[in-house]
Amino acid sequence: MNTVEFGGIGMTSQRTRERLIQRLKDQGISNQKVLDVIRVTPRHLFLDEALSHRAYEDTALPIGYGQTLSQPYVVALMTEILLSLGPRKKVLEIGTGSGYQATVLAQLVDQVYSVERIKPLQDKARDRLRQLGLRNVRLTHTDGGFGLPDYAPYDAILSAAAPHEVPEELLHQLAPDGILVIPVGPGDEQELRVIIRDGDSSKFEERVVETVRFVPLLSGTTR
Ligand code: SAH
Repeated sequence: MNTVEFGGIGMTSQRTRERLIQRLKDQGISNQKVLDVIRVTPRHLFLDEALSHRAYEDTALPIGYGQTLSQPYVVALMTEILLSLGPRKKVLEIGTGSGYQATVLAQLVDQVYSVERIKPLQDKARDRLRQLGLRNVRLTHTDGGFGLPDYAPYDAILSAAAPHEVPEELLHQLAPDGILVIPVGPGDEQELRVIIRDGDSSKFEERVVETVRFVPLLSGTTR
């Protein structure tokens, strides 16, 4: 667990943050720790200045390279599901993007591994994490479609990009009772799926939560 002090919030910003938290509650987010972490995490630092005034709206926003910072509701929902079976120690995120989701996770679990295929996005995310003093996030530039076998197994895996089908490799990298939260489907809209490994067996239980909109999981990496 890593508590971060993000100081210097103006009153206006505090009010807009409270509005966002209320909206998340209204939409059914109930994990108080998740709500508290979202309240104190400066989402405006994960956007270009031109967009930072919209940081506390409940909407996805562009971060360049055709990618988006996920909607706060979806970040909250996926994080809440990820923690729903109890505390998680080691978590893998696929699709670092801006680093916002990784920052949220880093305040709720022991160690976050996050992979990104677009190098400049990873570089920016690394700067932000350093600025915030987060030391329990390890970033890797790789194609997360194969997970990150070097550090497996993970107590939870969260994918911020949508494959057409669930990659087998991700299932193999789940620890006993591990949980995978992943949007799946070929179109603009996908099913948010939750897959739970049954103990240390190779059986998995799967359910669909709701419809979400994510960028596609692409293969290969770019410099
Ligand atoms: N979690 C991010 C959301 C970024 S959008 C945030 O909080 O900002 C999803 C990200 O997944 C994009 O940055 C995209 O480049 C990345 N991505 C897509 N396919 C990938 C793959 N195969 N491996 C790693 N990252 C991938």
